[in-house]
Amino acid sequence: MQEICYGCIRVIPGDSGGRFPFCNSLFIDDAVKVVIDPGAGPDKLAEIKNKHHVDLVLNTHYHFDHIAYNYLFDQAEIRINEEESNCFRDRREIAARVSMVQVYGEEWVPGWLDRIARADSPQSPYTPQNRHEWWLSTARLDGTYRWGDVLDFGRTRLEVIAAPGHTAGFSCFYFPNQGVVYTGDIDLTEFGPWYCGTDSDIDQFIATARHIARLDADTFITGHEQGVLTRAEFRHRLDAYLAIIEQREQRILSALTEPLDAKQVAALGLIYGKKYLVDDWVRAWEEVAVEKHLRRLVRKGLAVCRNNKYSRA
Ligand SMILES: [Zn+2]
Repeated sequence: MQEICYGCIRVIPGDSGGRFPFCNSLFIDDAVKVVIDPGAGPDKLAEIKNKHHVDLVLNTHYHFDHIAYNYLFDQAEIRINEEESNCFRDRREIAARVSMVQVYGEEWVPGWLDRIARADSPQSPYTPQNRHEWWLSTARLDGTYRWGDVLDFGRTRLEVIAAPGHTAGFSCFYFPNQGVVYTGDIDLTEFGPWYCGTDSDIDQFIATARHIARLDADTFITGHEQGVLTRAEFRHRLDAYLAIIEQREQRILSALTEPLDAKQVAALGLIYGKKYLVDDWVRAWEEVAVEKHLRRLVRKGLAVCRNNKYSRA
C-alpha cells in the first residue's frame, strides 16, 4: 500500500501488510497535528514523531494493535473514548475486557501485569499478550472523547461515530469535509469480525458495520490489511465479511451432535483453528466467542441450553 493523502489526512500503512499486531494508522498534518491509532510500526511512527510536533494521539479503542506505539509520542496529549478510559487508569480493566478474567479468573491478572512490566518477558506464540508496549503505552492518559464529539484540527474536522460491538467503546472517525471514514477494526479481513472480548457484542457489531457503510463518504480506510477502499468496494466486501459470522454459527450448530458446553465446543477451534489454541489468549477468545454464538443460537430458537450444555433445538 502506497502512502495516500486526503487533504491533511495521510494514511500510514501498517507493517506486515497492516496485519495484526500492526494496524494502518492516520497522520493529520494540520494546524493541530494528530496521530490516530499508532500501531503502524515503530519506524514509521518514529519518523513522524521526529519530523513533526505531534499534538494529539487518538485511540479508537484500547486493543494492543491500536495503541502499541502511543509511548513514542511523549510530547503529545493521549486520548481514548471515555467508555474505555479506565484501561489506562487501571490495567486490570484491560484483562477483564479482553476476556482473561472471564475465562481464567481474577487470579490470572497479577502475573500478566508482572510480565508486561518487563521488557524481557517470554512472548506468546500467536498474540502480543506479554509485550512490554502494553505497559508503556497505557502509562498515561490526558483526556477522553465521547461519541458524537466533533474535533477541529484547522482544515480537518473529525466526527466521532459510535461503533460498539468490536469493543464496548469502539469508535470510528468520520471526516465529512474529505468524505473519509476510518473504520478501524471493521476491517474486512478474511479472518472475519472479531467479537471475542467480554465487552464485545455480535449483534451490535453487525448493526455498527451497516451504519458505518451508510455514512456519506467516498473513502473507507480500514485498520488492517488493504486499508483504502471506495464506498462501493467497502459495501460489497462488507456482505462477505459479515457472512463469516453466520458461517461460524453454522459450524458451531453442526458440532452439536450431542449436548456440549461452551468449553467443549471451544476445544474444537471452529473460529480460530485448533493449532492457535495453544496461546492462552486465543483459547480464551475462542471460548468467549463460542459462548456468545451459543447464546445467540438459543435466542434464535436454533439451540437449547440445559445444565450449561447446548444441543440443537
Ligand atoms: Zn481491536
